[in-house]
This record gives sequence, structure tokens and C-alpha cells, in this order.
Amino acid sequence: MNTHKAGFVNIIGNPNVGKSTLMNALVGENLSIITSKAQTTRHRILGIVNGNDFQVIFSDTPGIIKPAYELQNAMMKFVSSAIEDADVLIYMIEIGEKSPKNEDLFNQLLKSDKPIFLLINKIDNGESSQVEEAVQLWSKQIPQAKIYAISALRNFGVEEVFTKILEHLPESPAYYPKDSLTDKPERFFVNEVIREKILMHYRKEVPYSVEVQTEAFEELDHIININTTIIVERRTQKGIIIGHQGKALNRIGRESRRDLEKFFQKKIFLDLYVKIDKDWRQDKRKLKGYGYHD
Ligand code: GDP
Ligand code: MG
Repeated sequence: MNTHKAGFVNIIGNPNVGKSTLMNALVGENLSIITSKAQTTRHRILGIVNGNDFQVIFSDTPGIIKPAYELQNAMMKFVSSAIEDADVLIYMIEIGEKSPKNEDLFNQLLKSDKPIFLLINKIDNGESSQVEEAVQLWSKQIPQAKIYAISALRNFGVEEVFTKILEHLPESPAYYPKDSLTDKPERFFVNEVIREKILMHYRKEVPYSVEVQTEAFEELDHIININTTIIVERRTQKGIIIGHQGKALNRIGRESRRDLEKFFQKKIFLDLYVKIDKDWRQDKRKLKGYGYHD
């Protein structure tokens, strides 16, 4: 008799350890934006891998931090819910990392009775002695975890982890249609691509003060027409985003369009608008409007 396996595999860990890189490697698509800055990922993002007799639903989450403002509180709730609703947990660290950053979340992880995979990432950056040290250290901190050393960026060890995860998935019918890749609408990926460019090109607090919302996504035969608003907290930030003679904003538009044309395989018309929404990051009601409390 044929059995079918399906379940939720949630990836958590400190900022910048390579969670989004791993999810993209597992799924084979650039679903989750990647930069060298902490807090690039703000939401939970699903990446679905389908086979004849399985469906693995990976979930990329924001990096674990101690929340300093309301937006970060919401981000840590995404992480906490990811621990609760997982069938399998991936706790990712990078080589050289010695202790958890947020003890409450780490304790929640220790108490969980789910299978835990502890992945030591970026081993392309370290010596083999460091890998052994890390295995020793972390097997004491999470005795129940299965430990693997990988490089998400070089796709080393990723396949093996995938196979092992499959063994730990429960028998279950699929949760999503077998042709789905993610649960997020197209607009979400537009927002994320633009936010990635903003993270790349602006400094200090600017990228963290930005929210991106796509109001219109109209797909025609030969082109997709997109209207997107970049929301900032203050007037000075609006000036910085637009730049002298609009040059900075034009660059964001140009680079985003290029990536979106690749992602959607269609010509893109992208209209960008910048708006001030005073102190939105601190305001529960506004955050809800932007999709941060669900
Ligand atoms: P996240 O914050 O945990 O989602 O981390 P990202 O996936 O955004 O990656 C953070 C940074 O680490 C990026 O610059 C990645 O290119 C880099 N990175 C991810 N995986 C590896 C790896 O296996 N080796 C190396 N050397 N760098 C990596
Ligand atoms: Mg990330």
C-alpha cells in the first residue's frame, strides 16, 4: 500500500546564520530574500517541496533576537508559533556560534517534543576541527537534536538533510495543492524583492524603517503592471529613499524590475511611490494593517 507523508518543517535560528539560503536551496527557488544584514526576513515564508508520496512545507522565519520595538515583538511571535506548529524543527547555527541569543525561545525549543535537526552552517568558512568543537558543544546544549554540518550556500549536505527530514515526517495527506510552491501571494514577492534592494543600498536605520506594500498587481498577456508604495517613518527618510533627482529610487526600481522579470518570466512595469506613515514600526494597529499580527 502507498503511504503519503506531509508536514511542516520550520527553520529557526539567529539572524544571518543562513536560514533563508537553506530554504531557497531546499526548494530550488529564490523565495526568501537574502542579504548580509540581520533582520532581512520579517515574516514566516513557506517553501513547499512536492513529490509523488510526500509534501514538505518548509517555513523560513525571522532571526531570533531580543525585541526592542513593536515590529520585533511581532517577528518573535512568528518564531514562537513556528516552534509550536512544526512537525520537525531545524535549529540553525553557524560555525563559531557558542550560545543561543534569546533564552526564552531556546528553552521553548528544548521543551518541545518534536524531532530537532541542529544544522551547523557555513562550514565552507571553517576548519574541520571547528566543526568537531561545535558538534561537541551543541550536543550538550540540545542532547535530543540530530546534528549535521552543512553549507547552505554551496549546497553541501542539504540533500542528505532533506532525506533525513522526510523519514521523520508523519503520514498525512498533502496540506496544499501539489503544484504550489508557497502560500504567499505574488504581491508579497514583489514587496520582498524591493525590500531586498533597499536593504542593499541604504544604510543605518533606513532599511529597518521601511515597509513595502504592493497595491496593484495586474497580469496581462505580455506584461505585469505593478503599483507599489514604499512606506517610511519620517520625512527625512523619504528624501533619502528618493535621492538627488530621484536617482536612488530609480535604481531601486531598475534592479527590482530586473529580478521580478526573472521571477515571473514576464515583462514588468513597476510604479514606485514613497509615502510617510509616522512611526509605523511602533504602532500595533498600523503593524496589523501591514500584516504583522495574524
Ligand atoms: P538568515 O538571516 O538566517 O536568513 O541568513 P541568510 O540566508 O539571509 O544569509 C545571511 C548571509 O550568510 C548571506 O550573506 C549568505 O550569503 C550567507 N551564507 C548563507 N549560507 C552560507 C554558507 O553556507 N556559507 C557561507 N560562507 N555563507 C553563507
Ligand atoms: Mg532570512
